[in-house]
Amino acid sequence: MSKPQAYSVKAYSAVSAKAPLAASSIPRRETTASDVKVDILYCGVCHSDLHFARNEWNFTQYPAVPGHEIIGRVATMGSDVKKFKVGDLVGVGCLVESCSTCPDCRAGLEQFCPEMAMTYGSTDKHLNLPTYGVYAQSIVVRDEFVLRIPANLNPAAAAPLLCAGITTYSPLRRWKVGPGQTVGIVGLGGLGHMGVKFAHALGAHVVLFTTSPGKTADAQRLGANEVVVSKDEQQMAAQAGRFDFILDTVSAPHDLNTYLNLLKRDGNMVLVGAPEKPLAVASFSLIMRRRSLSGSLIGGLPETQEMLDFCSEHNITSDIEMIRMDQVNEAYERMLKSDVKYRFVIDMTSL
Ligand SMILES: [Zn+2]
Ligand SMILES: [Zn+2]
Repeated sequence: MSKPQAYSVKAYSAVSAKAPLAASSIPRRETTASDVKVDILYCGVCHSDLHFARNEWNFTQYPAVPGHEIIGRVATMGSDVKKFKVGDLVGVGCLVESCSTCPDCRAGLEQFCPEMAMTYGSTDKHLNLPTYGVYAQSIVVRDEFVLRIPANLNPAAAAPLLCAGITTYSPLRRWKVGPGQTVGIVGLGGLGHMGVKFAHALGAHVVLFTTSPGKTADAQRLGANEVVVSKDEQQMAAQAGRFDFILDTVSAPHDLNTYLNLLKRDGNMVLVGAPEKPLAVASFSLIMRRRSLSGSLIGGLPETQEMLDFCSEHNITSDIEMIRMDQVNEAYERMLKSDVKYRFVIDMTSL
């Protein structure tokens, strides 16, 4: 592979775990034959961005550029790229590369490929430099990792679909959530609010679990049939054994057994949040009703496109609050207090 040249783009980066994000510039590779260059319009702010910028997962290299939920327009592309044309509205999510040949890639589950590269925190094999995220002017990505954005979706509100959307859609589809089922969504944040919308659109009876009674009206507006305040022991006891499926989106420490006990026989609970410390599971919570506890990681490229098309058909996007690039540090502080309904999106023209 001949090494492509690099060009410089404006970005927002952190120079250390303690430093706020600030204006900078980073190198991107020039487009190779199979690459698409995307000029970025909108970028969602994911909780992972904050973990990464502050090195809370202990793999961050600095300077660190977060961001993995973008909508933009095709600016240029390589000679082998057939599926896009200049000006197309496209998206890029958490993945930018994989081997294309392993069993996971062949199954369209690139997120599990041993050689997959993430949008930030991996290595750009062409430049042998870290991959830099999309708090930036543009990104260059192999065409297979670029998604089509349906024309009827608001582009800014579609940005969070690329991570929060697929993270919640994939487990609901994998475990065949649909009509006649009672489905619980735990937590009403960036992930949870998408989980409620998708479970509702799939035809399930949706019950939202929240610690804040103040979220009831909003949860109903988003598609929840019932809202249960999880701190209320009586309300929780009344839910025992009634759920086919529970999607747990919470990344703060919490008691899993309380929720496992709400599942029917053979019911399944899926974790998509990532609490820092291990969570305790009582064997009896699983054994007594043959229940399962599972995990799920974003989704592969085919399923991400399927999710975007599902959103187009059902008119689903994220509820967002638009910010300027220079408001991102303040947005992180507000995100830590769950003070956002329900996803910040950066207007990248403000970079
Ligand atoms: Zn994310
Ligand atoms: Zn692979």
